[in-house]
Amino acid sequence: NTNTMNGNGIANSKPKQQNVAEAVERARDAYNRGVTRPLKWRLQQLKNLLRMYEENQNAMIEALRKDLRRSKMESVMLEVAYLINDLRSIIHNLEDWAKPEKPEKGFVNMLDDVVIYHDPYGVALVIGAWNYPLQLLLLPMSGAIAGGNAVIVKPSELATACAAFVAEMVPKYLDNDAIIVVEGGPQETTELLKQKFDYIFFTGGTSIGKIVYEAAVKNLTPVTLELGGKSPVYIDNTADIMITTKRVLWGKFINAGQTCIAPDYILCTKETQDKFVAAAKKVLQEWYGPEPQKSPDFARIINSRHFSRLQALVDASKDKIAIGGSYDANDKFVELTVLTNVVGSDKIMQDEIFGPILPIVPVENAYEAIKFINEREKPLVLYVFSKSDKVLSQIVDNTSSGGMCVNDTMMHLAVESLPFGGVGASGLGAYHGKKTFETFTHKKSCLIKNFSPIGEKLASGRYPPYTDGNLKM
Ligand code: NAD
Repeated sequence: NTNTMNGNGIANSKPKQQNVAEAVERARDAYNRGVTRPLKWRLQQLKNLLRMYEENQNAMIEALRKDLRRSKMESVMLEVAYLINDLRSIIHNLEDWAKPEKPEKGFVNMLDDVVIYHDPYGVALVIGAWNYPLQLLLLPMSGAIAGGNAVIVKPSELATACAAFVAEMVPKYLDNDAIIVVEGGPQETTELLKQKFDYIFFTGGTSIGKIVYEAAVKNLTPVTLELGGKSPVYIDNTADIMITTKRVLWGKFINAGQTCIAPDYILCTKETQDKFVAAAKKVLQEWYGPEPQKSPDFARIINSRHFSRLQALVDASKDKIAIGGSYDANDKFVELTVLTNVVGSDKIMQDEIFGPILPIVPVENAYEAIKFINEREKPLVLYVFSKSDKVLSQIVDNTSSGGMCVNDTMMHLAVESLPFGGVGASGLGAYHGKKTFETFTHKKSCLIKNFSPIGEKLASGRYPPYTDGNLKM
């Protein structure tokens, strides 16, 4: 039921609007009472959350199977184990991260303390997407808790089983006043966005990201926007074609292409295009057999609306299909489909594909690829496959993207020390590793002086009556 709130003691019979406001008020009250600030509380909540993950691994895998028919391997790798490892690292490092920093100070402040405190923002709102419905919601939630905030989390209503899991489990394991799940879709989220938050962390599409940003402006609420877009892959002629093909196909077809950092399209020469298609036929046969629909490893499209969208994209590309091209509405199955000789004006090149269709756009060289990329919105990731350092630096130096991954796809996400986020239309801000903690805390700079007579004497030149003699330029 997308119209109800979770069992946090708020009656479902109350008008929704009031429930949302009430939930935020309760979180605000908990924050104001200082519940969430002590490190002890934060660590306790994070340990409870870890227990929630560890005790419910199968339930998480099952919810992901229900929502996306995701294989156990992908669910563990991309959500369950990922969440557990990330949270262990937060718990391990939190005390260190939360310590006030003592930055360098100059001669004039020799007798003073110069400190940067990591302040919680207050009440944070975390809005999740459906494609990685647990990871994209719970990882930022753990960051908000680590930062000492109260937090409202809003799972995506489209991943119904995962939303139900979160709504049931979070109140069982975590502090019911300070960490609150609000379920619902656009209507409830619109209500939420009318409330005052101190931080908003949103994952989703660029168009809804703009709505969130606009709502945040009212209160000058700082935001992180983890958005999407078309992430290109440039394959240079020097790349090892078999390894490249495997790594690109894996990143594209994992979760049936419904991944924000999935390689959206390929740019390469016609020669490389032919080699890629030949290699892809072999690889796909090896991975999914002659009837990919029967493979247990291939996920399904989230719902019929997204299925129809992808079906229309395949239908509009009929004359360019080199591999695949079939679909089955009853099973929400779209076959792994590779399109060749695609041009920038084709329908498939207009929006983020978010499904298992991989177009190849032939270009003559890296220069043309750079031009093609720069004529479009800044992508979340830019993938380059090349053995040439010259080509690599040419691309690094002449393009802008949220991040880059060279000679692989997706794996940059697993590097804890690399903040992950977009730029321009692909997003604002970043998280992962220590950056998650930093995202949910404000760096509060503080100069602490004392009342020592020597210090006062040294500083007394600043008081009126002013004389030029005290000016040192
Ligand atoms: P979405 O923008 O449709 O939905 C995201 C959230 O916004 C959901 O919780 C939804 O309930 C809410 N929402 C929907 N309509 C709303 C409205 N009118 N007002 C307020 N809130 C509203 O995105 P999605 O379909 O869940 O996810 C897919 C998109 O997210 C893709 O573009 C993908 O690239 C992007 N994404 C980005 C990342 C990242 O980390 N950068 C990760 C995953 C997905």
